[in-house]
Amino acid sequence: MQISAQISRFHGTGVPFEVCEVPVIATPEDTLVRVSLATICGSDLHTVSGRRDAPTPCVLGHEAVGTIAAPTRHRSATGEPLREGDRVTWSLMASCGTCDYCTDRNLPQKCGTLFKYGHARSEGSTTLSGGFATHILLRQGTAIYRIPDGITDKEVVPINCALATVVNGLKTIGTFPNEAGVIHGAGMLGIYAACYLRGEGYETIAVVDINDGRLEIAKRFGATHTFNPDRLSIAEIDTALKELTDGRGADLGVEVSGVTSGLPNLIAWLAVGGRCLTLGYVYPNAHISVDADHLVRKCVTVRGVHNYHYTALGDSLRFIEENRRRYPFEELIGGTYPLAEINTAFAAANRRDALRVSVAPSL
Ligand SMILES: [Zn+2]
Ligand SMILES: [Zn+2]
Repeated sequence: MQISAQISRFHGTGVPFEVCEVPVIATPEDTLVRVSLATICGSDLHTVSGRRDAPTPCVLGHEAVGTIAAPTRHRSATGEPLREGDRVTWSLMASCGTCDYCTDRNLPQKCGTLFKYGHARSEGSTTLSGGFATHILLRQGTAIYRIPDGITDKEVVPINCALATVVNGLKTIGTFPNEAGVIHGAGMLGIYAACYLRGEGYETIAVVDINDGRLEIAKRFGATHTFNPDRLSIAEIDTALKELTDGRGADLGVEVSGVTSGLPNLIAWLAVGGRCLTLGYVYPNAHISVDADHLVRKCVTVRGVHNYHYTALGDSLRFIEENRRRYPFEELIGGTYPLAEINTAFAAANRRDALRVSVAPSL
């Protein structure tokens, strides 16, 4: 089946996106998806600013949802046949399922032949490999999940990066009811972490950020307390956290701000035996200085986790389905732009007024 797709190509920092038409041949060996909505993730912004390397030309965008647009032999991640018209979300990577990372190490996101959507050179068979296009071609080894009826595109569009990463990280480090958690950073990952920890039975969920608007959002998504380090010293936040926890400090720290003060702050705020999950440092040269005396004397565990095991996407979809009446997930998505206005969309995302700006390629 031959179709004509529209794609936006990134050619490098400082060069506007090019929107162009490309012919594509779809076979049932892949899954052709018509993209209905895609969001601009922080890593897309890092790529465009040059902070992160990308092959060019590249179709960016990995947070996306859409509808299957051609017959496919692929089955869903839960084993059901997939049909044209099914509305789906998918893992942001394809892995082989047989290498050491995919099997013994249980890290399919680090597969020896990993393919990541939105991060590949757009040419030949990878022409349609990003979300900022009318279509994307999903390859063998991608975990595809059907989206239950009733859930809107806006409610799920960022989950295949932001929420799945949070769920995977928190499952890896472990969560326990009645603990106290402190989240450093109230971006998309921090907001998701707050409501997820609430669902895991956390009594105290403190969120720290220098943006008051984001702290207000955090309060509506499960945060019990918020702190702005522009107005409070690290020691004052430490005192406040100890008051909330009978003098012990936080049991769990979650670093999702990406700023180099995040991990040292969290280690200072953790209780004896505390655990710290770091998800935010996904750019080169994120060098950090910590007082290792705190690490040792407090018996602190620090765990870095990157991306996710694809099953975390299924868990994330379930989380949205079960909590969509409790939290206004749609409100996390700001302005929506057609593909032809992708340069305007990125300019809006760079202003950071909204947690996510979206592109609707079929508009
Ligand atoms: Zn992302
Ligand atoms: Zn593999």
